[in-house]
Amino acid sequence: MESIDPQVYIVGAGPGAPGLLTLRAVEALSRADLVLHDALVPRRLLDFAKPTAELLCIRDLPGIHPDKYPHIHNLLIDRARAGHVVVRLKGGDPLIFGRGGEETAMLREAGIRYEIVPGVTAALAAAAYLDLPLTHRNYASAVAFITGHELPTKLGNRLDYAALARFPGTLVIYMGIARLPMIVAELLKHGKDPMTPAAIVERASTGEMRTIASTLAGLDTARRNAGLEAPGLVILGDAVEHRSTTSWFESTPLFGKRVLITRPRHQALPMLQRLEELGAVTHLLSTMVIRAPRETTALDDAIRNLKRYDWLGFTSVNGVQFFMQRLLSLGYDLRALGSLKLAAIGPATATALSEFHLIADVVPTEFSSEGMVETLSSQVAGKRVLLARANRGRDLLPVELAKIADVEQVVVYEQIDSIDLKDEVFDHLRRGEIEFVTLTSSNIARAFLAACDEIIRGRIHRGELKLVAISGETGGVVRDLGFPIAGEAKVATTEGIVRTLIQMTSEDRGGR
Ligand code: SAH
Repeated sequence: MESIDPQVYIVGAGPGAPGLLTLRAVEALSRADLVLHDALVPRRLLDFAKPTAELLCIRDLPGIHPDKYPHIHNLLIDRARAGHVVVRLKGGDPLIFGRGGEETAMLREAGIRYEIVPGVTAALAAAAYLDLPLTHRNYASAVAFITGHELPTKLGNRLDYAALARFPGTLVIYMGIARLPMIVAELLKHGKDPMTPAAIVERASTGEMRTIASTLAGLDTARRNAGLEAPGLVILGDAVEHRSTTSWFESTPLFGKRVLITRPRHQALPMLQRLEELGAVTHLLSTMVIRAPRETTALDDAIRNLKRYDWLGFTSVNGVQFFMQRLLSLGYDLRALGSLKLAAIGPATATALSEFHLIADVVPTEFSSEGMVETLSSQVAGKRVLLARANRGRDLLPVELAKIADVEQVVVYEQIDSIDLKDEVFDHLRRGEIEFVTLTSSNIARAFLAACDEIIRGRIHRGELKLVAISGETGGVVRDLGFPIAGEAKVATTEGIVRTLIQMTSEDRGGR
C-alpha cells in the first residue's frame, strides 16, 4: 500500500532547553530512520529517536561551513526516495532565519511529502526566560524579528533602517553581534533614540544564559566589556526596561551551576531534568552499563521456587526491574509472588515495585543497608529471605541479616564499569568548566575516581572540583580512596543530592 505519511519532517528543536521541544516533534523523532540535526541541538533530544535511527550532524557532512547546502538537500531527497523517514532537526523554529524555506521549496520540487513542525524561536525563549514582555499594552504594540546578517548579494528588499528606527515596538535582532556597530550606527543615523533600552542575551533558556543590558548607544561597549561574542540575540525597546531585574529563571537556585551526573545513561534522565529546571548546566558521563546476568541458573531456580521464601528484598530500582523482567519472561505473572512479603531499600525502589502494582511491606526510614538491617531485623528473625542484588554491592546487608534469618542471595543484574576515557566531559573537567560531580553510588564513585587523571585529581584536592555523594556510605568510599568530599546528601535520593547542591550553592553565595 502506498504510504500517505510525510517522508521528511522539518522540525524545530527549540532554543536549547530540551523541555521546550513540542510533542509533535517527539512524535516525528520517534518515527525517524535518519535524524539530520544542527550542531547546537541539545544531545538529549536525539534520545527521542528509535535506538536504530541513524543520527547525523550537519557539521559532519562534507563541504565547508556554512555552505553544506547541496549536501543537505541531496541527502534529504536521496533518503526520502529510498523510503526512509527523515527528520531534519533545526535550532529554534525552522522558518525563522533557519533556511527551512529553502529546504521545503527543494522538497516540493522533488515531489517529496513533508511536514513542518514549528519550534520555540530564540526571541520567544529570550522573552520568557528574561521575563521580558515583547509586546505590552502600554509601550510595545508590535514586535519585529530582524536578521543582522543579510546576504551581501541580496537584491532589493534589504533592511530599511529608516523604517526600523520608526518601528512602534520591540526590535529583536538575530545574528546581529558580528555587525553590531554597523546596526547601531544605522539606527541612530535614522533617528532612533540613543537612550532606547537595549539588551543582548546568549544561550537563552539554558543555565548558560548570559545577559547584558544597556542603551542603544552604549550597547557595543557594554558587550565588549562583558566579553560577549556571537551568537546572541539583540533586543531593543522599552520592553527591555520593564523587565524584572532578575528573571524567574536567573533566580532558580542552581542557575549557572555546572554539574556532572555520573549515572548510567538510561537512568540519568530524571536527575538531568530536575537539575536543568533548577537552572543548572548539566553534563553526563555514563560510568557503567547495567545488563541482565549472563548466568541465570540460580535466579531461575529461585523464581521457580519462590514458595520457599517468606521475604523478598530489593536494594535498587534495577533489582526490581530485572527481577520482574526475568519472572515474566519465564512465563510467570504476579501470582508467582504469592504471599511473599516485600522489602525495598528506599522510596525509589518502592516506586519501582508500584509500577508492577506491588506495594512494599517495608521501606526503611533511613535508605541504606544499615537502615534496612535495622528496620527488617525485628520482622525477619527466623524467616527465609531472598535478596535480589547486583553482581557486586556491599555485603553488610546479607551478612547482618544472616545473623538472624535464613538469607539467600541471587544476582538479578550485572554492573559493568564502562567509562569512555575520550568523553569530552574529561576535557571540561580538566579545564575547570565543571564545579560539582554527583556520585550516586559507591561503585560509581570508585569507577569515576579511577578514571580521573592527575589534572582532575589536583582540582579535586584543591576544592575547585567538588565531589557530592548521595549518602554517607558513598562519601566514606570517596574518603577511603583519599579524596575530600564536599557534600553528602542527608537523604539518599536524587532529591536529597539536589537539596545538598542547593545548600552548598547558597552557602557559597552568602559567603561572598
Ligand atoms: N531558527 C533559529 C534562528 C537561527 S539564526 C530560531 O528560530 O531561533 C541563529 C541566531 O539565533 C543566533 O545568531 C542568535 O542570534 C539566535 N539564537 C538562537 N538560539 C538562541 C538562544 N538560545 N539564545 C539567544 N539567541 C539565540
